[in-house]
Amino acid sequence: MSRGEQIYEGKAKIVYAGEDPDTLVLHFKDDTSAFDGEKVEQLASKGKVNNQFNAFIMEHLQAAGVPTHFLHLINDTDSLVRRLDMIPVECVVRNRAAGSLSRRLGVEEGLILEPPVFEFFLKNDALHDPMINTSHILSFGWATEDEIHAMRRWSLRINMLLTALFAAADLILVDFKLEFGRYEGELFLGDEFSPDGCRLWDAKTLEKMDKDRFRRNLGGVVEAYVEVARRLGVPLS
Ligand code: 5GP
Repeated sequence: MSRGEQIYEGKAKIVYAGEDPDTLVLHFKDDTSAFDGEKVEQLASKGKVNNQFNAFIMEHLQAAGVPTHFLHLINDTDSLVRRLDMIPVECVVRNRAAGSLSRRLGVEEGLILEPPVFEFFLKNDALHDPMINTSHILSFGWATEDEIHAMRRWSLRINMLLTALFAAADLILVDFKLEFGRYEGELFLGDEFSPDGCRLWDAKTLEKMDKDRFRRNLGGVVEAYVEVARRLGVPLS
């Protein structure tokens, strides 16, 4: 399986054309960024760990009936996915207050949110991914009413599935970000799910096991990702 032309380079991944025009190759980089790309570092092995972590989560979700773009692992750092027409919106689900929600609403980190909070953000680095609502999505034509409902429904279903998966590994799924796209008129989960795009706390100590370790200069970033993978039973090479 060879990579075709480079289509896009993001902060943590490079996207290449696949051999079949309906597919893409995702290459997971060691680059780690925060604060809209203001802080960037190379963390050895992060690309490899996230590629294998993402494959495990996507396969878990697929087995539970979630349509995802994931096809198969190609090698340590690359995966083959279906080529989606991406919706330029980030879907965030929160089970506990943290990050931008705590700042925006002035609530203590860790507050349990029941029912979970669901939010949309516009995927736009230059504008710092502003929060948007369904009215913006409809007026600007980023997605249809049906797609908005489906993104919300799938995000909350994925939250139930992954909250249980992580709880069995003594981890609290605090919050996470998802992106969706269209393939032959149907909605599919795209992008990636890794500790770069979610918050995970140790259930007993509440120690942070995700990208907040990088954002807050706590060190041991990849070590924490590897520990999460080990607890879940993700096979790492
Ligand atoms: P917050 O809004 O608190 O910054 O982020 C909420 C959750 O979504 C966190 O788990 C965070 O890692 C994830 N998230 C939000 N925006 C992005 C993004 O642009 N990239 C990545 N990788 N994760 C994001």
